[in-house]
Amino acid sequence: MRVLADLAAGIATGAVEIVDLTAPLTETTPIIQLPAPFANTKGFSLEEISRYDDRGPGWYWNNVTMGEHCGTHLDVPVHWASGRDGVDVGQVPPGQLVAPAVVLDKSAEVADNPDFLLETDDVRAFEGEYGALPAGGWLVYRTGWDTRSADQEAFLNADENGPHTPGISVECAKWLAEETELLGVGVETVGTDAGAAHSFDPPFPCHSYLLGAGKYGLTQLQNVARLPVTGAVLVVAPLPIVGGSGSPARVLALIEAP
Ligand code: MN
Repeated sequence: MRVLADLAAGIATGAVEIVDLTAPLTETTPIIQLPAPFANTKGFSLEEISRYDDRGPGWYWNNVTMGEHCGTHLDVPVHWASGRDGVDVGQVPPGQLVAPAVVLDKSAEVADNPDFLLETDDVRAFEGEYGALPAGGWLVYRTGWDTRSADQEAFLNADENGPHTPGISVECAKWLAEETELLGVGVETVGTDAGAAHSFDPPFPCHSYLLGAGKYGLTQLQNVARLPVTGAVLVVAPLPIVGGSGSPARVLALIEAP
């Protein structure tokens, strides 16, 4: 198949670049913090088994601990009550893990308003300029939030009223879920929903509508600024956790060299 040989040649020559959209996993990788009385996820940690020592003289290895929703990760339908009859992360078809993406940039708006919400009219205007959203592909919503990703406090941006991070309006989330053929929505923030979405009706509309429609969420992406508006292909690689509600994922973008 010539197309794969062309792809390999493109990567070798640099005509095709691979951009890593994944946050590094460390003990300080930000994780979501739900208010009481809700239970919270564990962050990432390493436990050393041996390191060229009495416990294993010739080798180094660790146990890892983390929640399914730690760092850059994929949300799948069973994560939400509305999607409980959908697929778990071990059931995602491999053909859905390599898919086109478009990038809608609202980083300028978010710089002025961390509670900025994407509206359906914004997406329609984007389609008017760049063409229809990709069927079976990703809408990557750029907010510039990845610049905060090394600092839990700045990333969650919470005050006494809760977190202030950008997201998607209730109406737009419903429209994306029900009126588009998207595979899912990717974001730079800790989750696909806005920080204030706990008080929306319904609460957490991206989770509720998108996962309820069998779509996916992809969170804590980095380096989205390096992607073209259209034409990138994402490779999303979650662990095949049987029964899992999501998984940390390595997310790579293939782009044509600018
Ligand atoms: Mn999640």
